[in-house]
Amino acid sequence: MADCVFCKIAGGEIPSKFVYEDEKCVIFNDIHPKAKTHMLIVPRKHIPSIADMEDGDEKIAGHLLHCAKNIADNMKLKGYKLSINVGKEGGQEVFHLHVHLMSD
Ligand code: AMP
Repeated sequence: MADCVFCKIAGGEIPSKFVYEDEKCVIFNDIHPKAKTHMLIVPRKHIPSIADMEDGDEKIAGHLLHCAKNIADNMKLKGYKLSINVGKEGGQEVFHLHVHLMSD
């Protein structure tokens, strides 16, 4: 999507250092970390939010969680929090689906 910052990051239009990437998602550090480790797991497909998921997108959503687990394992995180804000009233600021992975 033309005006979406996470589409631009995932597509390489905004240069970013990925912690991980594959054909379905990218993982990068949050620009304003709220924990010692604070990464965002972001699908390449522009899905504005969980509330906008279409049939088939559950595979992408599951993949994001699987990648979160793998990156946490690789980083040997003992415990962590995964969160998804949904909608303006749910605290969502960037309207491109993403999972926060946070650990102190
Ligand atoms: P949310 O409130 O769930 O939409 O969270 C959006 C998150 O994206 C916030 O934690 C921001 O700090 C983060 N963010 C916004 N722009 C960027 C960016 N260019 N690079 C990395 N993180 C960003």
